[in-house]
Amino acid sequence: MLKVEGLTAAYGRIEVLHDLSLYVEPGEIVAIVGANGAGKTTLMKAIAGIHPVAAGTITVGGEDVTRRPAHERVTRGLALVPEGRQVFGPLSVADNLALGAYRAHGDVSADREEMEALFPILAQRRRQAAGSLSGGQQQMLAIARALMSRPRLLLLDEPSMGLAPIVTREIFEALAGRHRSAGLTVLLVEQNISAALKLASRGYVLETGRVVAEGRSEDLLTDPAIQRAYLGG
Ligand code: ATP
Repeated sequence: MLKVEGLTAAYGRIEVLHDLSLYVEPGEIVAIVGANGAGKTTLMKAIAGIHPVAAGTITVGGEDVTRRPAHERVTRGLALVPEGRQVFGPLSVADNLALGAYRAHGDVSADREEMEALFPILAQRRRQAAGSLSGGQQQMLAIARALMSRPRLLLLDEPSMGLAPIVTREIFEALAGRHRSAGLTVLLVEQNISAALKLASRGYVLETGRVVAEGRSEDLLTDPAIQRAYLGG
């Protein structure tokens, strides 16, 4: 589904991702975990096409998209839920959802109903301005808006950021449900390492722009070095 090989990215002359490789198979949930500043957001932006790639390749469904603009990656099945959600505050919940489908297809109402079944609060708040929702509700809307494009791969940047653990759990359970029912494929980056690895089947640990560990989630969660560094173990 997604293959990243030898990816290098920089801000000006400062390289922040170094020769990074990873893959996501269809139907997988994969987590990239790491501390603040490890390069997780830059990686997501590079995959989505909103940060330039200095070296390496990004392939989606076997097609090299490294030099393709972001909107063409959307039509090839990538949808990014950006850090900080970035919903359109003055627009209604329903209009935010409709905009998510705009590049991909015209059949908005059936998909909106599906999203309202996934996150029932969005049905209750359908006519309300997105900016008036709580942080957790905005995160649900941002995810639903991305799913409206019927992505083959959902890219999630720190969905738990700023949310209470119970709200994070609710969102992760909805994602797991969608994964089971519709085979949703997800690549997520998270500072909340234990929540992310419990949702994902595989993970990569990122430190200062490099992959320092990778494997099955249960192996990473029980790895003593990872427990010491990230899980207070
Ligand atoms: P966070 O969880 O804080 O978002 P992150 O793991 O997503 O962290 P990035 O935001 O990708 O990390 O940042 C990686 C590195 O790039 C950091 O050292 C950061 O200081 C630097 N960086 C990020 N954005 C810029 C920018 N616009 N200009 C210069 N350097 C930047």
